[in-house]
Amino acid sequence: MKALLAVQKVSVHFGGTKAVHEVDLEFEAGRLYGLIGPNGSGKSTLLGAMSRLTRLTAGALVFRGDAYTHLTPEAVARLGVRRTFQTVRLLPEMTVLDNVKLGADARLAGRSIARNWLFPAHTARVEKQGARAAAEAIERLGLTAVAREFPLNLSYGTQRRVEIARALAAQPSVLMLDEPTAGMTREERDEVGSLLRELSADGLTQILVEHDVPLITRVCDHLYVMNAGQLIASGDDPAAVVQRPEVQEAYLGRRAHAVS
Ligand code: ADP
Ligand code: MG
Repeated sequence: MKALLAVQKVSVHFGGTKAVHEVDLEFEAGRLYGLIGPNGSGKSTLLGAMSRLTRLTAGALVFRGDAYTHLTPEAVARLGVRRTFQTVRLLPEMTVLDNVKLGADARLAGRSIARNWLFPAHTARVEKQGARAAAEAIERLGLTAVAREFPLNLSYGTQRRVEIARALAAQPSVLMLDEPTAGMTREERDEVGSLLRELSADGLTQILVEHDVPLITRVCDHLYVMNAGQLIASGDDPAAVVQRPEVQEAYLGRRAHAVS
């Protein structure tokens, strides 16, 4: 099967640091991919490159058969390739609902004002769809009761759910999540895991960067493992991939979340 999205020999170097080095990855439509690796192995940098927020040193990015290596981040978002960040990036002066609506509005942003003005019926339709998508995302993430609250009044776990809702409101075709359950309780993590499986059943392609190995092995269809900027293992049986010697070794000597 032809991949929906492909990363081809992508490198991102920061001066002498090879944060990502000649990485090849393929993502097929509708599957949920896990991406793990010790801290500093290049996972977030790779998501940055794939969303075009981080400049590539070399390599190509392909979506639906077309290279998007030179598109702007806004254009990539409009293609339907979206990410969430490792740290909370909500606008504190806006309500949960308005933060989530921003995700939906991203579909209009980048179109010229003239275009939105010249085709008001189309613009109104997109806006209406956006409002519906925002409402659906709020409901899906269990945020209805806090939709009019401000982010800082909510627990960290809830703020992270708002971020996922914002990304979903844009109705992406590929959703990249950078440690979405960091700082969540076990129960909240399991809920997010179940949600990701539901989204997968709806056909959404997902890339999940996560340290929670039990969660990864429960929800992912395929696992990629990075170490020191390179891909060191991959496979369709995440639990087995995690047990491979090269993966165990990559985590050895690292603190805390060694793979278990
Ligand atoms: P991970 O998400 O797997 O923990 P990162 O992608 O954040 O890893 O980082 C990979 C490496 O690249 C690290 O050595 C990190 O210090 C370095 N790095 C990340 N972003 C930058 C940057 N903007 N400038 C310089 N070095 C960076
Ligand atoms: Mg990271």
